[in-house]
Parts: sequence; C-alpha cells; structure tokens
Amino acid sequence: MKRLKQRLIYSIMVTFAIVTVLIIIYAFRHRDADDLVYLIFNSYALLAVLLSFLFVLYWQRVRRKRMISEQKRLRHLVKNLTAPAMLWDDDLKSAELNEALMRAAELDPEEMPAPKQLIPQLFGREHIDDEAIREIVLSKNQEYVFPVGEDRQRSMVWNTSAVHTDEEGLTYFLSIGVDLENIRLMESELRSYSRRLAASENRNMLTMELTDIGILLIELHTHKLYPSEKLQRMIGLSGEHWTAKDLRSLVYPMDLALFDRHVKTIRNHVRDYMNTTQVLELRLSGADKRYRWYSYRFKALQVADGGVIIGGAVIDISKEKEKDAQIEQIAYEDAVTAIPNRNRLMNVGEELYLCTKELDVSYWVIVMDIDRFHLINDTCGYANGNELLKRFARALEKELTEGGFGARISGDNFALILHDTGDEKLPVTVVKRIQKKLAALAVGKFENRSLTCSAGYARMPHDGGSFEEVMERAEFALSTGKSVNGAVTGYTEQMHDTIIRESNIEKELRRAIEKNELVLYYQPKIALDSGAVIGLEALVRWKKPDGTMVPPEVFIPVAERTPLIMQITRFVIREACRQAKEWQKKGLPEIVMSVNMSGMDFYQDNVCNVVAGALKKNTLPPRFLEIELTESLALKDIDLTVSRMKQLRVLGVQIAMDDFGTGYSSLSYLRSLPFTMLKLDRSFVMHMADDLVVQEIVSSVVRIAKAKGIRTIAEGVETPQQAQQLRLLGCDYVQGYLYGKPMSAEDTEAFIRRNQTERKVY
Ligand code: C2E
Ligand code: MG
Ligand code: MG
Repeated sequence: MKRLKQRLIYSIMVTFAIVTVLIIIYAFRHRDADDLVYLIFNSYALLAVLLSFLFVLYWQRVRRKRMISEQKRLRHLVKNLTAPAMLWDDDLKSAELNEALMRAAELDPEEMPAPKQLIPQLFGREHIDDEAIREIVLSKNQEYVFPVGEDRQRSMVWNTSAVHTDEEGLTYFLSIGVDLENIRLMESELRSYSRRLAASENRNMLTMELTDIGILLIELHTHKLYPSEKLQRMIGLSGEHWTAKDLRSLVYPMDLALFDRHVKTIRNHVRDYMNTTQVLELRLSGADKRYRWYSYRFKALQVADGGVIIGGAVIDISKEKEKDAQIEQIAYEDAVTAIPNRNRLMNVGEELYLCTKELDVSYWVIVMDIDRFHLINDTCGYANGNELLKRFARALEKELTEGGFGARISGDNFALILHDTGDEKLPVTVVKRIQKKLAALAVGKFENRSLTCSAGYARMPHDGGSFEEVMERAEFALSTGKSVNGAVTGYTEQMHDTIIRESNIEKELRRAIEKNELVLYYQPKIALDSGAVIGLEALVRWKKPDGTMVPPEVFIPVAERTPLIMQITRFVIREACRQAKEWQKKGLPEIVMSVNMSGMDFYQDNVCNVVAGALKKNTLPPRFLEIELTESLALKDIDLTVSRMKQLRVLGVQIAMDDFGTGYSSLSYLRSLPFTMLKLDRSFVMHMADDLVVQEIVSSVVRIAKAKGIRTIAEGVETPQQAQQLRLLGCDYVQGYLYGKPMSAEDTEAFIRRNQTERKVY
C-alpha cells in the first residue's frame, strides 16, 4: 500500500516536471511572440521549477523525520530492555543490539561484525532468507544455539516480531531473547550455594535475582523450594522458601494431576531429569489471584556433597497460551454447552490414565445419556432441547471434584471423570444427584416431561488397558442398562465376558460368511387402506449348520464394528435383488424390496456401484429397490449423507428413514434429507395408545412427511387397535407381527399369493 502511494506521488511529480519542461520549450520557441504571452509562460515555468524544488525538499524532510522518529523510538525501546534484544531489518542492512545482548554474545562494540554476518550467526544459521525469517517469526520459544568467542556456544530463546516497515519497504524485526546461559550460569551458582549452605544457615545471602525471569531451586533432601524474589512477586507467594504443598495450593485444579506426577518423579526418579532440560507448563494463581500459565524449564544438578538439586527458570507464557486457547476453544469446546467436547475428553482422559499408573490413584469414568431426549427436541423444539443440554452441562460441572473433568461427547451423551476417593458408591451418588437436578428442570417449557438420565461407569485404570478401553466399558455398561430409564450401571467382569463372546462371534461370523450360512427372511409391508402387500423388508439371518437361527441383533452389532458388515450388506443387496426379480418373473405382483444399510456401508465410496451392479445383474428396475437407513446413521455426517442419498436417488432407488424417532433430532432433518419413505419406530406404536404426546408426534410427523411427498410406514404393529389408530392418524403403511413375521423365501411367496385373494383391513 505504502509503495503504491510512493509510486503515485512520483508519477505526479514526473508528470508535473514533464509539463513544466514542455511549457519552457514552448515559451522558448515563442520568445518572439507577443511579449505578454512570453512573460506569462516564463513566469509560470520559473514558478513551477521553484515549487517543484520546494516540494521535493519538503517531502524528503517529512519522510526522513517520520522514519527517524519511528526508528528512534524502536532503538530507544531496544536499548532500555533488560532482556537481550535487537532490532534488525529483512535486508540485513542494520542491526541494533542492546547491552544485555552484547554481553550475552560477548561482542565488542569496537569490532562488531556486519549485520549480514551477525544476524544469521545469532540465529545459529548460515544465512537468512525470507523463508528463514518466516520460521524465526513463527517459532516462539525455540532455542537457538550460536557460537561465542573462539570455541564456545550459547543458547537463546528468541521471540521475534515484525515491528515497522519504512518508506523504502524495509521491514524491521524486534527479537527479544531469554538467555538460557543464565540457567546454565546457575549451575555454578548452585554449586557455590550448596557449599555455602553447608557452611552457614544464612540463606539470605543467596541472591537469586539473576535475571527478570523467576528462578526456582528445589533442594531434594530437605524438600524445600527456594524461589527468587522475582518469582515470589510473579506469583504473589512470599517466603524465603516454600514447600511443594505451598506451591500445590496455587495450582489450577485441572493441572493438579500433572503437578503431582512431576513431584513424584522428582522425588523418586530424579536421575531421569539429569543432563536433559525438562519443561513443565501449568497454570498457577498469580499475584492478582488470576490463573496464569507458567513454564518451568529445569534440570537436575549434582552438587558438591553428592546430593541433587533441581534448578530452573520460570517464565510467564500466558500470552502464547492465550493464542493456543483460542484455537483450542474451537477444536475442543462443545458449541452448545460450552463445556469440553469428546476430543478434549480423550486427551485429558489419556493423560489422567498415565497419572493413575504413576501416582497409584484411580478415577471413575461415568457416561450419561438423557433418556428419550429426541422427544424433548420434537415436542419442545430444538432451541429448548439445546437449553436443556446447557442446563444439564451446568449440573454436571457442579459435581466435578478436584482434578475432575466433564464433557459432552455427542448429542445427549455426557461424560464425567471423577477422582476415586475409595467410596464405591460415589458414581451412583453423583449420578443420583444429577438425576435429581435434571428432574427439577421439568418446569416451565419442560412441564410434565419426565426428565431422567441413565448412566454407565467404569474404573480407571482397573477396568481397561487404556482410557479408550475404560470409556468403551463405561459405554457398554450404559447400553446394558438402557432398557430402564434412569438406570445407573457399573461395569462388571461378566460384561467383560460379553465382550469376549462378541469377539468369538466375530470369528465365527467370518467363517459363516465364507460357508454361505447367511440367509434372507422377508417381512411384508401392508397398505393400511387395502390390506395389500406393497413391499418386503429383507432381514438377514444366520442359519447355523445345526439348524439354529441366530437373530441379527446378536451378530449385526458385532459385524458393524468391523468391515464384515460390508460383506454382509453386499450379500443382502445381491440376494434381495435376485429374489425380487425371480418373483416378478413368476408373475407375482410388483412389490418394493427393502434392504437395511449400516453406517460403514453407506459411507463407503463404492456403495452406489454395489447397488447399481446388483440391479443390472438381475435386470431389476431401480424403483423396486428401497434402502433403509437409520436416523442416527443419516445424522453422522449430514453433508456426506445428503450427497450419497442424492447419488442413490439419481440411480432411481428409493430411500427410507428407518427407526425414525429413536435418534437425537428428527423433525428438523426431515426437511433437508431426500427420503421417499419414513419408518416410524416401534416405540411410537407401543406408546401410542396411552400417551397423548406420542400421538401428537405421530400425527405431526405424518403431516410434515405428507407435505413433502414422503410416505409413512409404522413398524412393530401387533394389535388391530394400533392399526386402526395409525390409519386415523394418516399413516400409509404398516409392518408388524399383526400381519406377518419375517419368514423364509418359500413362506413369503405363499404369503404374497394368499394376499392376492385374502386381505384383512383393520
Ligand atoms: P429393523 O430394520 O428395524 O427391522 C425390524 C425388526 O423389527 C425386525 O427384527 C423385525 O423382526 C422386528 N419386528 C417386525 N415387526 C415386529 C413386531 O410387530 N413386533 C416386534 N417386537 N418386532 C417386530 P430383526 O429381523 O430381528 O432385525 C433387527 C434389526 O437388525 C433390524 O431392525 C435391522 O436394524 C437389523 N438388520 C436385520 N437385517 C439386516 C441386514 O441385512 N443388514 C443390516 N445392516 N441390518 C439388519
Ligand atoms: Mg429396517
Ligand atoms: Mg426399524
């Protein structure tokens, strides 16, 4: 921008000069003309030359003045900094070093190297180009090693920022250093200190005010911490020496486990900290009683009497952490409740898991689920649903103990990590308190709602080899108790057996697929008004060689956790298409064949090819195939879901939303997803007779679906009353034991033939 302005001014001046020269030439040529014209031209030319001259002079002065004053200000700043600092430019034309830096780098003002040589040297590089400058500016707190004198080296942590650009476009950088040599200097200080300690009790003699960074020494055999005065001022804790407990009282609760872990290592394995510099970053309450981030860069040192002392520098790194925190907030905070999200939970959990091993402590991991939360979303609206989640998060936060942690892990799922105090009943007590608070929210817009939550819990490290495993087990416990609202279920060894059983199922299933032990059963879908079969749902069964049938609930969830599900789906699609075509060829009425698809299948890139291939191979027109997707699957990645569904719709295949109403949010998504059929979950049908709210939901869902041209089918219809009620509410089709259970291909064929003559309308 500045360069543009500069060019503009130059162009105006050049134009002005050219015009003036032209006028002078013109005036000279016409010097014999009328005296008056000649006089006017000459006067103008003289005036123009004079004005240009004055303008150039004035402009140069202003520019120089402005530049000098800004550079003066920066030089003054550098000179007055107590920390090593320098001001330099990107052409390496100038380098202004302050006294602290000259001292640290052992430079003689009389024999200063040229900036082109000096600057790269101070950053420990051979040369500096634009790329190097970019790295230097971006890397905060990076240690640079540069040569000092003939054969020594020195380390410095540089923080560099661009501070000024002059009129010529030169950019000036201000680099402020933390001289790590101070820490190394301390080593020799420490040696003499320990000698003096041995000789005298007068510790006041010790001056630790080496720099303007705080210094902390830890004397291992007395367990005493010696802070420099600067450090005492920094964190507002006075006293010639502290105990670890004094310092611990200032540590931010979330960082306590980390602090304890370091204290323990220092006490028991201090030799691990010999020879290498360690960095501990944590939050302490500062002098102003606000938590700030500090970095302690320390090392263990052998002292004269054979003992060991820890020594190092404390720097306030809050500013850098603030920037990190903004990024973290986006990545690690849940947008609705403003509490940590699953990513953050996993990070913290893994760290705490390590602590449990090292500190011999344990934690409870509790996962919670608000029961039938989708009903709140549907009946009270999305905004109120979010409001409830927020309030639930607040209730959760209140239960956090020291060093504990809470997060929202998905939709209506939350997790808590609590310090295990030895009280076996703690998880149940805490969850009961949360349940009580949740129940108390059933006022105002949540009036008459039964607000409950279920929970599952496991103990860490006892119940798993990693945090992830402990979480899985807590979730497993939650899922086993989920049939009862408000259940609080702890993970047990028996559940472990279930997990083992699942892994056996997986092995057996793999073999079963190879041996073609999977078969398809079909359940009819009936039109409520005519009683005619309009479709069939293909449901997979595992027929063991001894004739026993394994229901899909046993093996599908196991298969869904592995790529086996894709093999199963491929088989189901091919077999269902083949069967549908066979029945069409036999002259049976045209009916739509539905197949179920799992998340892993649906998100596979080649899913459309598999479907198109099966249709083509059997020459089945696409409109006779319907794919059932569950709502939770559809909501996992909404953008991908929409595009994948559109691809399938382009093929001409129909798409049904299965188990509608069991997921997290339903009505709102109905509008954006290209479904052709909506399958109301069995739970609606079950509760419809005596729950007015459910009736209201069914009728509004049907209404919205109709308005969008989507047909509706109800699952799990077992009684004539349910069928009648559904018809009154406007539902189109039904599926359930009232009409027919899933049956073999042979029985299905007979069922369809019978249906052509005998139909029942309830
Ligand atoms: P779904 O897709 O919701 O299938 C409906 C289930 O409800 C079937 O159970 C069916 O037998 C059962 N059902 C139908 N009418 C009634 C009724 O009136 N009362 C009761 N109590 N139940 C009824 P099924 O066949 O055991 O399948 C269970 C689930 O397993 C299915 O639920 C589906 O999620 C999954 N599944 C079945 N076959 C496949 C498949 O080929 N692929 C995939 N990915 N999943 C499948
Ligand atoms: Mg289904
Ligand atoms: Mg279903």
